[in-house]
Amino acid sequence: RLMILNVEVNNFKSYYGKASIGPFHRSFTSIIGPNGSGKSNLIDSLLFVFGFRASKIRSDKLANLIHKSAGRQPDSCTVTIYFQRIVDAIQPDQYRVVPNSLFTIARTAYKNGNTSYSIDGRAASKSEVEARLRLVDIDIEHNRFLILQGEVEQIAMMKPVRTNKNEIGMVEYLEDIVGSNRIAPF
Ligand code: ATP
Ligand code: MG
Repeated sequence: RLMILNVEVNNFKSYYGKASIGPFHRSFTSIIGPNGSGKSNLIDSLLFVFGFRASKIRSDKLANLIHKSAGRQPDSCTVTIYFQRIVDAIQPDQYRVVPNSLFTIARTAYKNGNTSYSIDGRAASKSEVEARLRLVDIDIEHNRFLILQGEVEQIAMMKPVRTNKNEIGMVEYLEDIVGSNRIAPF
């Protein structure tokens, strides 16, 4: 299994300077805090690294994701996600980290609207990031793992099976999640 160990935000939205958020629980973390304290911005930081468009990150353009407040206006923002593979132990709440499985994916946005990605600190293209994440069973293109506000209802309202080309049904959705619609790689 894969877990997000922590997330490093640097000048991202309400986060000024560098902050490391985590470590997260391997299967359940809730983020609490007063209104406007940056809970949704943390989720936005994940969406940013996963390559979502600015509009999906509650912003009109990427450059506006860079922190801006009185007298503070950095040139760029960066978010780094630390992933590691784990094996669950028999005892509840215990797991083993797969040796050498730690890796990072980062994305930066610049004032001029440019954006760049890196894998383990080395510059990479978006498709290389997608390929790296596919290795650990995260399929960004057919995202089924990030369920955002408002999407719960949409999922609950799904028809049982696909009835037209543009809309998937519950069966297709679940098959996608468990992977039974994919050809085994052996
Ligand atoms: P709620 O409980 O209301 O959902 P929240 O904890 O989810 O609150 P966020 O939406 O994460 O809050 O944070 C909102 C705050 O982030 C606002 O105060 C907003 O001004 C600030 N913010 C967003 N973008 C930037 C930016 N580029 N620079 C500085 N602050 C920003
Ligand atoms: Mg919020």
